[in-house]
Amino acid sequence: MSVRAVGTPGRIDVMRPWLGTEEAEAVADVIASGWVAQGPRVAAFEHAFAARMAVGHAVATSSCTTALHLALVVAGIGRGDDVVVPSFSFIATANAPVYVGARPVFADVEGDTGNVSAATIAAALTPATRAVIVVDQGGMPVDLAPIRALCDPRGIAVIEDAACGVGSEYRGAPVGAGADVAVWSFHPRKLLTTGEGGMLTTSNAEWADRARRLREHAMSVSAADRHASLLAPPEEYGEVGFNYRMTDLQAAIGLVQLGRLGAIVGRRREFAARYASGLAGVGGIRVIGDPPHGRSNFQSYWIEVLAEYPLDREGLLARLAEAGVSARRGIMASHRQPAHRSRDTGSATLATTDRLTTGTLILPLHHALDGDDLDRVVDVIRTAASET
Ligand SMILES: *Cc1c(COP(=O)(O)O)cnc(C)c1O
Repeated sequence: MSVRAVGTPGRIDVMRPWLGTEEAEAVADVIASGWVAQGPRVAAFEHAFAARMAVGHAVATSSCTTALHLALVVAGIGRGDDVVVPSFSFIATANAPVYVGARPVFADVEGDTGNVSAATIAAALTPATRAVIVVDQGGMPVDLAPIRALCDPRGIAVIEDAACGVGSEYRGAPVGAGADVAVWSFHPRKLLTTGEGGMLTTSNAEWADRARRLREHAMSVSAADRHASLLAPPEEYGEVGFNYRMTDLQAAIGLVQLGRLGAIVGRRREFAARYASGLAGVGGIRVIGDPPHGRSNFQSYWIEVLAEYPLDREGLLARLAEAGVSARRGIMASHRQPAHRSRDTGSATLATTDRLTTGTLILPLHHALDGDDLDRVVDVIRTAASET
């Protein structure tokens, strides 16, 4: 039995994971090995990921959300602490502080990048702020140095939610490497996928060790190590942990995907440039590009529909859908969701967040598209622009 490929002829999907026969063969090897839970492939994936991201330690997890939870635990964040987070992010960013009993405080973002900055974070600081979670939103690298200059003297931990950031660069280095701890997602909506999965990276060896234990019930000896010895040593549980493990099946896929990363990013950057030049000069449409401080992987290529455009965001989405183009609303704003509606924002307003979340949309971008597909998308936006 085979599963039919997603995608209908003529329809342009917003995203598709880049998976091939190499991934299928890697999974078949794991099954043949007889060890499918967390084991040697997870260890190999962690090693390769740490090297690629230029950071000392990598700890694989079941998702980015669980990695975020562990990041806050190892950073010592808990009850009574405030954590500054952008509202303009997937809901997991705002949820994580709540898992450890802390309080998320929402910061606004900059309009050109969709990211928090030292200025927007400063406005959201409270006397209880102990950590910030910065996000490389849609793959756009966050400007970390000024944020560290703000946070370090105040003893505020900098956690980078690099869920969308794999393959993006900040000042010539991979994003995430400059944070106290960074977390990554391998959900199929992201650029590198293991089905579900995540990673925590840090240059702090103690934090990495603790995260490694916490993801496996805080067991003193890993299940893989116990299995490897004939007479398993007795294990001990020093604190309350979790089951946040990745499987070797997922890690085998991840290893292949990591080898594909350069090609994935290269293709996305090529397509982003084609969108940017195709949409240049279209009245009422603002396009994104690399910020001065880095290079985006363009995981999400978004545009802003300005007031002078004849259609609003919803109208343009509908027009694209009529043409068989599956675009998406831009990034959500957590402060508008019932789960987080009554949160504090320090002295910050969320004006830019509100503007971007109502006025932006994400255009289709994946490896299986070609130049003609992109031109078709551009054409719909261009044609609608000349209506009155
Ligand atoms: C996707 C995403 C997450 C969640 O990742 P999972 O691996 O699905 O848990 C967290 N933060 C941001 C910014 C994301 O885009």
